[in-house]
Amino acid sequence: MSKVKKSEAEGTPLKFFGDWKYAPAPESKEHIRLKKQYGLFINGEFVQPKSKKYFDTINPATEEKIAEIAIADEKDVDLAVNAASKAYNNVWKKMHAKERAKYIYRIARMIQERARELAVIETMNGGKPIRESRDIDVPLAANHFFYYAGWADKLNYAFPNRTPQSLGVAGQIIPWNFPLLMAAWKIAPALAAGNTVVLKPAETTSLTALKLAEIIAESGLPEGVVNIVTGFGKTGAAIVQHPNVNKVAFTGSTDVGKIIQKAIAGTSKRVTLELGGKAANIVFDDAPIDQAVEGIVNGIFFNQGHVCCAGSRLLVQEGVADIVIRKLKERMETLIVGDPMDKNTDIGAINSKEQLKKIQQYITIGINEGAELYQSSCTLPNKGFFCKPTLFLNTSQSHRVVQEEIFGPVLAVQTFRTVEEAIEKANNIPYGLSAGIWTDKGSKIFNMTTKLRAGVVWANTYNKFDPTSPFGGYKESGFGREGGLHGLLPYLQL
Ligand code: NAP
Ligand code: MG
Repeated sequence: MSKVKKSEAEGTPLKFFGDWKYAPAPESKEHIRLKKQYGLFINGEFVQPKSKKYFDTINPATEEKIAEIAIADEKDVDLAVNAASKAYNNVWKKMHAKERAKYIYRIARMIQERARELAVIETMNGGKPIRESRDIDVPLAANHFFYYAGWADKLNYAFPNRTPQSLGVAGQIIPWNFPLLMAAWKIAPALAAGNTVVLKPAETTSLTALKLAEIIAESGLPEGVVNIVTGFGKTGAAIVQHPNVNKVAFTGSTDVGKIIQKAIAGTSKRVTLELGGKAANIVFDDAPIDQAVEGIVNGIFFNQGHVCCAGSRLLVQEGVADIVIRKLKERMETLIVGDPMDKNTDIGAINSKEQLKKIQQYITIGINEGAELYQSSCTLPNKGFFCKPTLFLNTSQSHRVVQEEIFGPVLAVQTFRTVEEAIEKANNIPYGLSAGIWTDKGSKIFNMTTKLRAGVVWANTYNKFDPTSPFGGYKESGFGREGGLHGLLPYLQL
């Protein structure tokens, strides 16, 4: 138990007593099975890359090597796309939708059966707290397969009076922040709509996608229906450019999204882009303050701020700004930063050395711009990549820490007086992925939701996900929707 001392002077943050601590509660790694080296999953089996080249994947919390991962070059991507093409034309397209659904259900069940192993590997490879992998990433990944399995033989009901038809081979490229979950978001609707798949995970977090490949192989899914190729940006580019890829589904940064859009311009390829974000959590003076503070913390600090829809800006109404910021600082003091494998940890490791460097550069930028820095007093582990939960106070709309995506546990705080000012400030950025509203008044919520240029708006909660609800962006956060009925559309021709 942590013990908080009441401060006498109003307004000064309460101090955290270091003498009361949770006992360590590390999750065991004994039960997981990992190979020393992973090949490419092409046509239903693991094969050596043509290049014969591999790279090391590490644990960002310890900097220890976990395994070697194959690098796919153009030749390997060609093999994978051809396998997917053949499987599409000869098997998957012809199969009765009910039969396709059974395979997708089976994959969902197998993810559930292996949940513990998948959660541990996700945390080892990505750095996120085991609590997150265990309670969010893995169950949601299984739920996406269950949900889309249900749609596979009901596409005519999903789009009445239309004739839904599959597209062919989907090339799918995903980022490192929700490795298994993003793979599920991509593969499940593609298969349900009758397409076959070539998927590339991010270089730093390939392991759970490769474990998913093992599950897929064991599920008996016909060979070539799902292919998983690993490597760097070049591998992704080869998928995008392959002439037999009919649809590109990308989740990642806005910069790479723009490169992809240019690469496919003038082709018949369909594309969806799920890109960056810079969401505002907007707290009105009639908000339930304690819940709002918890929502803000959940929105930016849990998962190290490695969330595209992270609430990385706080807009707080002037009348409650002091109390919200004071309570936020107190709560930050109680956050446990450290070993992601410990069940008590709130903030795990930053995913990579490069990402930590980027976050540190933004912290320097914020200081140089004149914003006021506040960090919790926790001590960081000596090894691994870690960052303290960080606030920037007194920021203005033009500050780079307000405008740009940092993708770390860094929150930029601004105040506002009127509803109009809140809307203006929330919308005045290049992104439009998500937003949060905290208020007692339903009417205020409905007014705001129509005016905020954001794909998802949460009210009196934050970062809640469900396979049935669509997710996606406005403006430079991309286009196309994943999840729900809407998530089937990008994989179908009506
Ligand atoms: P990233 O650098 O854009 O990489 C995303 C994926 O694209 C990786 O697999 C990457 O491979 C690959 N890639 C890199 N260059 C490529 C190219 N020229 N052509 C094709 N593929 C290429 O993004 P990230 O750093 O992994 O992820 C963080 C970003 O993802 C943030 O901006 C975040 O907001 C966004 N995101 C958005 C959503 C959403 O739903 N809107 C969800 C999650 C994350 P390598 O890893 O090997 O470079
Ligand atoms: Mg990258």
